[in-house]
Amino acid sequence: MRRKSFPIRLRVALAGLLFLAGTVVMRSEGPQMVGGPPIPGGTQFVPGQPFVWTINPITYWTDKGTLGPLSNSSATSLVQSSLQVWLSVPTASINFSQAGQLPQDVTSYNILAVLNDMAACSTPLDPNSATVIARDRTVIFDTDGSAIEALGGDPSGVLGVTIPLCWSSDGTTNFFQRTAAVFNGQFATTFDNTMEATMIHEFGHMIGLDHSQINLECLADLCVGAELRGVPIMFPVAISDRITLSTDDEAGISVLYPETVNNPPNRVPFSTLGRIQGHVYFSDGITPAQGFNVIARNTTDPLRIAVSNVSGFLFTACVGVPSTVLPPPWGDCGAIFGSTDTTLIGVYDLPGLPSGTYTVEVEAINDSWPMPFILGSSVGPIGQMGFQFPLYADCTPLYLGSNSSAGCGSPTHLTVTAGAVVNAGTDVILNGPTGTLPRYDAWEDGP
Ligand SMILES: [Zn+2]
Repeated sequence: MRRKSFPIRLRVALAGLLFLAGTVVMRSEGPQMVGGPPIPGGTQFVPGQPFVWTINPITYWTDKGTLGPLSNSSATSLVQSSLQVWLSVPTASINFSQAGQLPQDVTSYNILAVLNDMAACSTPLDPNSATVIARDRTVIFDTDGSAIEALGGDPSGVLGVTIPLCWSSDGTTNFFQRTAAVFNGQFATTFDNTMEATMIHEFGHMIGLDHSQINLECLADLCVGAELRGVPIMFPVAISDRITLSTDDEAGISVLYPETVNNPPNRVPFSTLGRIQGHVYFSDGITPAQGFNVIARNTTDPLRIAVSNVSGFLFTACVGVPSTVLPPPWGDCGAIFGSTDTTLIGVYDLPGLPSGTYTVEVEAINDSWPMPFILGSSVGPIGQMGFQFPLYADCTPLYLGSNSSAGCGSPTHLTVTAGAVVNAGTDVILNGPTGTLPRYDAWEDGP
């Protein structure tokens, strides 16, 4: 997560340094990592399936030092309260438990060793070792930002970073094994919620959530009230120190870890929420469109009750991108990223919708400087490669209207009822008033 005025590419810089291998991609309400096709002789990931934690509870170890002006015990309490925000989602089932404290303070001098020990995935980490600091889930308090600087990040702009280090699959479920979260003490204060908001965000990544884009106008303007409350905690940039989840955040965790227990108000089965699913197509009506943000908004509270997802979120970002255009692993990565199942191209999925009436809209992922949502701040798979697709249209967003046609007004109202999936009349064809591109570009053909 980065501060508003400082664009940062830390997550990908780290991924490039330490973690190139694997058949996964870090990826709005949506999963951060999605399994790719099997690699001969390697782990057989389940293609198109998001990664989740299967251990219960998810144990973690906290750093021994301070976090800026916060004492170790205050910082540790903040970790607990931040995790509690996710635990409190009534439609999700997930548990955390603090297993202990790291044996030494993690600083700029030893953080690379800690991360490299964690990245040695086949070597078990002794939870009782006094000499090896690394644990399977480490929460690092970078008290002065120097550790983030040691990792190549700008300590004046990066509030925190989450680094997935090991993951695997049993052939049925793709799961995380080791993750580190690093928090920058330069942003910790004793008088505001910035650090707690950062922790909630980074723990969202640790759980397996990607960034989300909703109420994008809040990035540029002062934005208040429902508009601000509808901005997800998983928005790529910290634009407030709000410490509550949005509907989109709750949908994101709930679809990965669905609650089945019925004991309201604290426990509510995920199956009571509705869902809208469909495709985004270019104006030829045939070619599925990857990498566009789709938002369902409740008509009674559209700024706040909103859930987003990026079209093609389960599909590889790199089919058809030759290594001459983008260097490996990005360009020549047909086997690495996401699923290669062509039926997933352009698919969107908007889960976790309370019953009601919704509109569906499509917009581009933010790609304007100085804060484009790319690389470490990406939303959806395409941005990981360093760019986003523009939406050539007369207006933005384009609303799903009648006959799948997307336009500048007259949105169709879709009725979502408890437990139901709405998937008829939900495909969006990007043919605004004067049309959009008839299809993708030279890199991609229709199926
Ligand atoms: Zn983030």
